[in-house]
Amino acid sequence: MSLALYDTRTRRKRDFEPANAAQVTMYLCGPTVYSYAHIGNFRPAVVFDMLFRLLRSKYGADNVVYARNITDIDDKINQAAHEQQVDISVITDKFTAIYRENSSTLNILSPNLEPTATGHMDEMINLISRLLENGHAYQAEGHVLFSVSSFEGYGKLSGRDLKDMLAGARVNIAAYKRDPADFVLWKPSSETEPSWDSPFGAGRPGWHTECSAMIEANFGTTIDIHAGGQDLIFPHHENEIAQSMCVHEGVPLARFWLHNGFLDMGAEKMSKSLGNVKLVHDLLKDWPGEVLRYALLTAHYRAPLEWSENLLSRTRTTMDRYYGTLRRLSDVTASLEDAPKGFVAALCDDLNTPQAMAKLATLFKQANMAKTDADRARVKGQIQAAGVLVGLFEQDPETWFQRDDDDAAQIDAMVAARFKARQDKDWAEADRLRDQLNALKIVIEDGPNGSIWRRG
Ligand code: AMP
Ligand code: ZN
Repeated sequence: MSLALYDTRTRRKRDFEPANAAQVTMYLCGPTVYSYAHIGNFRPAVVFDMLFRLLRSKYGADNVVYARNITDIDDKINQAAHEQQVDISVITDKFTAIYRENSSTLNILSPNLEPTATGHMDEMINLISRLLENGHAYQAEGHVLFSVSSFEGYGKLSGRDLKDMLAGARVNIAAYKRDPADFVLWKPSSETEPSWDSPFGAGRPGWHTECSAMIEANFGTTIDIHAGGQDLIFPHHENEIAQSMCVHEGVPLARFWLHNGFLDMGAEKMSKSLGNVKLVHDLLKDWPGEVLRYALLTAHYRAPLEWSENLLSRTRTTMDRYYGTLRRLSDVTASLEDAPKGFVAALCDDLNTPQAMAKLATLFKQANMAKTDADRARVKGQIQAAGVLVGLFEQDPETWFQRDDDDAAQIDAMVAARFKARQDKDWAEADRLRDQLNALKIVIEDGPNGSIWRRG
């Protein structure tokens, strides 16, 4: 089945064919590890993990190389290290470990490569030197800048016109820039900022340079797929293209550019600067990682997705139902099956997860209605094969329900203690317990012999 993917650069859905089917290459701009990641940051990680799974099934697991970098040089990291009076590695090690742990809880496969900026300092310096040599970059006041007017293709990915960009640029642009749109490849560090030696003076690289150097070091000139969130199209990806193409004599950096839409809170993008974030680290206290994953896949990856408690509870209810079906089938040995054609076709149509999830619902319905053992074995096999492609329903149903059972036992005890407090006329204790139960969204109905409860 052919795989069609929407390519931002050509602005259309195109059939995807790798340059070399024995080594399909994909790169995702990964997290900047300065603090806890929010659930919006995990949208690209989950969506492109699903694409990674699909490519593995299509081309063979050994033939796909997926790199997701760790941005461990960044001004936000420097600021956090300065505030806490520690080396940047203390911050980046901590948040890299947390990011990896959260990723595994969301059933995100480890990428084949996880390059870091600090691990590619020589490659970055080398790339900047070549840009200086071939006239695409210049030095000014301790900085090295990329000259955007030297690259004819600048603006093609984002569809921006360089003249408009220059006209629209604000006036308080650094005086050392020849053009306001020129961007930093290298900058000097203050005494409190981390610094590396280089032929252009001590300092540190700009963010855009990190990805170009990491891609070149790990893959060479051109990769099949470059992915990231929509906010990276400009300037980050535009600048990556400019740097890479100018050291590679115009050879394209990526054959396909894929961008996920935003995760929103209300009408706004979830972002730290707006202060409307839900940290994955916090969400995991209340929700299984698989619920977060499923919720992120409910919308098409290029469409906006509004995050809400309601989305999470609806997702959890659906998953309870599906895992309930799998629990009823625990004694059935699944036969070895492919994922159903309709399900795969939906994913191969630019990762259409809403349609794929609708097919999954049909599959669970079929599982509930299956009359014979052979039917049950077949449908269970199909569910498993579909689950591997999207990274869902891979847990033992008992593990899924365990958390509920643990919760229920605790709630039973609280409800009984509240009933006893009321009998003892200990109203303060009864109120305290009621408030706690309210906070857990538990609805209580009092009867003469005890109270019953349900989730609200
Ligand atoms: P950062 O850690 O800030 O470098 O971001 C990591 C990734 O998360 C990038 O690919 C961003 O485009 C993406 N991202 C950040 N905020 C959102 C959001 N609200 N919705 C979807 N993707 C986002
Ligand atoms: Zn990048």
